[in-house]
Amino acid sequence: MKVSFKDLGLVNTREMFAKAVKGGYAIPAFNFNNMEQLQAIVQACAETKSPVILQVSKGARNYANQTLLRYMAQGAVEYAKELGWKRPQIVLHLDHGDSYELCKSCVDFGFSSVMIDGSALPYDENVALTRKVVNYAHKHDVTVEAELGVLAGVEDEVSSEVSHYTKPEEVIDFVKKTKCDSLAISIGTSHGAYKFKPEQCTRDPKTGRLVPPPLAFDVLKAIEKKLPGFPIVLHGSSSVPQEYVDIINANGGKLPDAVGIPEEQLRKAAKSAVCKINIDSDSRLAMTAAIRQHFAEYPGHFDPRQYLKPAREEMKKMYEHKILNVLGSNGKAR
Ligand SMILES: [Zn+2]
Repeated sequence: MKVSFKDLGLVNTREMFAKAVKGGYAIPAFNFNNMEQLQAIVQACAETKSPVILQVSKGARNYANQTLLRYMAQGAVEYAKELGWKRPQIVLHLDHGDSYELCKSCVDFGFSSVMIDGSALPYDENVALTRKVVNYAHKHDVTVEAELGVLAGVEDEVSSEVSHYTKPEEVIDFVKKTKCDSLAISIGTSHGAYKFKPEQCTRDPKTGRLVPPPLAFDVLKAIEKKLPGFPIVLHGSSSVPQEYVDIINANGGKLPDAVGIPEEQLRKAAKSAVCKINIDSDSRLAMTAAIRQHFAEYPGHFDPRQYLKPAREEMKKMYEHKILNVLGSNGKAR
């Protein structure tokens, strides 16, 4: 049975992005695949009145079950209202759809937005696949994110050895031909908790920490010039907070040289046409750090609520921090 996202109380990204580009802020796109993560996201967004994109990757869909995810998203809307958020603006988005069939299935299942990632394909095939998805999605008022340029790193089943920055000279043609609603670009962000190899980085002489290479803001600027006001998306934009890495490593974990995108660079990006910033790894790190610390302090605990509660609190703190201090999306959905 087909379900429209509108019946679930969800919204698509059209109006949300238009406002964000104009207002110089970015919408958080947080991945989720379990209840505690979703609770933390909804609590953080309801308290800060931030619009939000709930993202589900193909892997998460397989992990959590698509029917359950749909009702969880519907539940998120109702829960947000219960928390006093009168008009929650929540998007349910497919992250890195890799086929027309998957995107169609998500549209039919109540997603309000889908990404078709044809970035690994030759240009013309990416155009054709994206166009096909857009044709179907737009019939159901579902918005479509496409991708041009290849990110390095690993996120679920997306992996690439090399990073190819988006070519600004291609964007006008691509958007015109595909009619996509937003475009993920490659300017040096990367998936996962190991975004850069130590040899790509410099070291801070004081702290000994890795300092990653800066994002290619010149490429972003050139794209903005070609497509004024068009919504741009950044994937792989976790900051990999070193305090979480330290807690994990101090409590039996092993994450050597995990490094992310510095928040001041994301802050700068959020003020531009970048209107959606994807954050996944930071939530995983917050959860793992809290759980590892809890087990170190309470080795006798075995009720999952005992360690998932502090994990949820830590994730919520992290989400709020991103909304208030990095993206500037607070107060934009009252
Ligand atoms: Zn991604």
